[in-house]
Amino acid sequence: MLQYGSLEAAELALGRNLTLPEKLWYSYSAEKSDYLLYNHNCLFLFLVFSLVPLPCVLVELFWFNNMNKFKLQPRIRRSFSELFKCYKDVILNKFILLAAPLIAVSFPALKWVRIRYPTSLPLPSKWEVISQLLVYFLIEDYGNYWLHRLLHTKWGFENIHYMHHEYHAPIGFAAPYAHWAEILILAIPTFLGPAMVPCHMVTLWLWTVLRQAEAIETHSGFDFPWSPTKFIPFYGGAEYHDYHHSVGGQSQSNFASIFTYCDYIYGTDKGYRHHKQVVKKLKDKKHQG
Ligand SMILES: [Zn+2]
Ligand SMILES: [Zn+2]
Repeated sequence: MLQYGSLEAAELALGRNLTLPEKLWYSYSAEKSDYLLYNHNCLFLFLVFSLVPLPCVLVELFWFNNMNKFKLQPRIRRSFSELFKCYKDVILNKFILLAAPLIAVSFPALKWVRIRYPTSLPLPSKWEVISQLLVYFLIEDYGNYWLHRLLHTKWGFENIHYMHHEYHAPIGFAAPYAHWAEILILAIPTFLGPAMVPCHMVTLWLWTVLRQAEAIETHSGFDFPWSPTKFIPFYGGAEYHDYHHSVGGQSQSNFASIFTYCDYIYGTDKGYRHHKQVVKKLKDKKHQG
């Protein structure tokens, strides 16, 4: 809900003409409550869970023979019924019963920790959005790293994290496939960024979309050399996290969800680096032979 009664009042208060995105934001949000705007995150989450995995699903179903050189575990091919079962479970049990209610009840909590009034004009600048998102990704990555490590203790794995590791060869739909307790635990670093560094509602929407899209890419099971994420420094990506899943419950390597530096600093990428060296040696031998 905006604090200005009309477009003209907003322009008068800001001392300038509104930009086109600001006019669009005004006409869309002026009559809606902050709570309703915040709950748009539920819709975005549903769309991300449903649509972002689709390109890799189509490749898996229809173009597997041509594209399996990009598949990280090419011997495992999922059928339509397996993929649909995972999607159905994620939407019914993880989205409708957990993630959507969590978003619905978290708004008072975010307001309680002093989130800045999030729907006003002016809209944030491009650099404000980028720098806030970067901070959120860093907080998410660091928090997720340590919580994920805790989930790999004997008790944590046997009681909670085993479910996420049912997919030894991950697929995009399985990114949020986890025990309800894990979804609640890992929501902490996701909410922590916006709670610590308050942002505009538009930035919060972007954060929801980008964080989940990143998790889906990381679980896609494919490593495409043309992926734009290849240009992000210290970015882990699908190959990095796929290794963690392929090792399974015993895995003590590659805990980080986004970047690689935490595993490097805390020495939890040794297994992965050794594995890479072995694969490289095998490839070199093959070429020489
Ligand atoms: Zn794990
Ligand atoms: Zn995973």
